[in-house]
Amino acid sequence: MIYKSTRGLAPEMNVCQAIIKGIAADKGLYVPERFPRLGERPDGSFEEPQALFSRLSKLSYKELAAEVLAPYLPEFSAKELAACIDGAYDGKYSAEEIVPVVKAGGAYFLELYHGPTAAFKDMALQLMPRLLTASMKKQHEDKTVVILVSTSGDTGTAALKGFENVPGTRIVVFFPDGAVSPVQEKQMRTASGSNAKVFSIKGNFDDAQTTQKQILSDPQLAEEMAAKGFTFSAANSMNVGRLLPQIVYYVWGYAQLIAKGALKAGEPCNICVPSGNFGNILSAYYAMRMGVPVKRLICASNKNKVLTDFINTGIYDANREFFVTNSPSMDILISSNLERLLYHLSGDDPAEVRKLMDSLAEDGRYTVPESIRSGLSGLFSAGYAEEDQITDAIGQLYKQEHYLMDTHTAVGYKVWKDYSEKTGDVTPALIASTASPYKFASAIAESIGVSEGTDPFETIENLRKATGIAVPAGLSGLKDRKVVHTEVINRQDMKQRVKTLLGV
Ligand SMILES: *Cc1c(COP(=O)(O)O)cnc(C)c1O
Repeated sequence: MIYKSTRGLAPEMNVCQAIIKGIAADKGLYVPERFPRLGERPDGSFEEPQALFSRLSKLSYKELAAEVLAPYLPEFSAKELAACIDGAYDGKYSAEEIVPVVKAGGAYFLELYHGPTAAFKDMALQLMPRLLTASMKKQHEDKTVVILVSTSGDTGTAALKGFENVPGTRIVVFFPDGAVSPVQEKQMRTASGSNAKVFSIKGNFDDAQTTQKQILSDPQLAEEMAAKGFTFSAANSMNVGRLLPQIVYYVWGYAQLIAKGALKAGEPCNICVPSGNFGNILSAYYAMRMGVPVKRLICASNKNKVLTDFINTGIYDANREFFVTNSPSMDILISSNLERLLYHLSGDDPAEVRKLMDSLAEDGRYTVPESIRSGLSGLFSAGYAEEDQITDAIGQLYKQEHYLMDTHTAVGYKVWKDYSEKTGDVTPALIASTASPYKFASAIAESIGVSEGTDPFETIENLRKATGIAVPAGLSGLKDRKVVHTEVINRQDMKQRVKTLLGV
C-alpha cells in the first residue's frame, strides 16, 4: 500500500514514512493509493456482503480494528498491529464495548468519548503514537520526532495524553487563547508529560493551523532541525495515522446496527457527523469506500457553517465572520481534510487539487468543477445549527429520554433531525457522539436547567447530582492538578518558540 500526496509533487511513501512525516513536502496530505475492500480474501475473491457483515457484527472492537486496519498497514505483522491495538484500547475506556451504540431520539448515537480525555480524538490518539513509534523503529529513524499540534481544544488534550512521556518524541501544542472550554484549557495547561509544551496563541484555530503547516513544510527549518537530531510530525488529522483508526468505529457502528436488529446485513445506513476540520466525517467516507453500505453522509456544522455552504453550493468561501460558539471544537473556517475528499472526488487528480488549494491560499475561496460537485451532492447532505438550537436540542432530548448530549453531538442530532424531517428519509442513522457533556459543562447546565457553579468543576458536580451520570475518570481529578503551562504568545512567534524550546 503506497501513500500519495494530494498535490502530487512529494515523494510517495509507505505508511510508516507517511505517519512519521505527517504532512507532505508539497503541503499536500497523504492518502492511500486505493481503498481496500472489507471481506477481501487473500486470493482476491470477496465474502458476500450479508455473510461479511453478519460475521463482522460478532467481532469485538479490537478484533474489528485489526481486520479493518491491516490492509492499510502492510508493514506491520499481525502480531505488531495487535500489540498497538491492545496498548491503545485495553484498560483505557470506561465502556466495556469501547464504543457503545445507544438508541435515543430516533437515532443511534455512536459514543466515541469514553476514553482518557473524554472526546473522540482519543480513539485515534491512543493508537497513533504506538503506530508512530513502531514506524520509527521500522524505518530506523533515530531522530527525536517533534509533534506539532494546533488544536481547537480536544486534539491538544488527547495528543498530550497519547504522547505523554513516549520515548523519542516531543510534543508542542498551540491552542487559541480564550476560545476553548475551561475544562479543555485546564486539561492542556496541566499536561505533565516531561516531553510536553503548551502555548496558547493570540488568534483563532485557523491562525494556529496555518502557521503550524508553514512550520512543518519549511525546508530550511527542517535542515536546521535535522542537524540537531530532530524531525517534525503532526498529530492533527492532516496525519493519515489519525484518520485510519477513525475508520474502524464507522464499520463498528454499522455492525452494531446489525447486531441490534436495526438493519439487516447489507442494508444501508445514514451517518451524521458534527464536523470542523472534516477528519471525522472523512473517515466515515473511507469506511463507505471500503464497503460499508451508506446512503447519505450528513455533515453538521455550527454557526461557522463554511462546510454547509460548500456542500450545498460547491463554493468554499472562508472569507466570512468567525464565531466563537458553545461547540468550540468546531469553530473552524479552513477544514484541512476537505483536501483529501477533493482529491478522491476528482478521480485522484493532484493538478485539480493544487488549483483549488492555490485559490484557497490566495483568495480564501474556490469553486469546484461540476465533476466534484456531482460527486459531493450524490453522497453528502449538510446543515447547521445555531447556538440556541443546540441548547434546545440538548434540553429536549434530556427531558424526553434522559439522554444527555454534549454541544457538538447536539449539532449532529439537530442537523440529522432537520434532514429527516425535510426529506422523509427514515434510514437508520448513526450520529457521531464526539465528546462527554461534562467537557462543556456550562452550556449543558444551561440547556437542562441546572444552576452553574462558581467554577467549571462545581458546575460539573451540580450536573452529576442532577443527572446521576458518572463523571469521566479523566475529568474527575482535574480540579486539583497543577497548572504548568501558562504562556500566551503571538502566532508570528510560534516558529521561534519551537526553535528556542528545542535549542535549534
Ligand atoms: C474535533 C472535534 C470535532 C470536529 O471533528 P473534525 O474531525 O475536526 O471534523 C467535533 N466535536 C468534537 C467534540 C471535537 O473534539
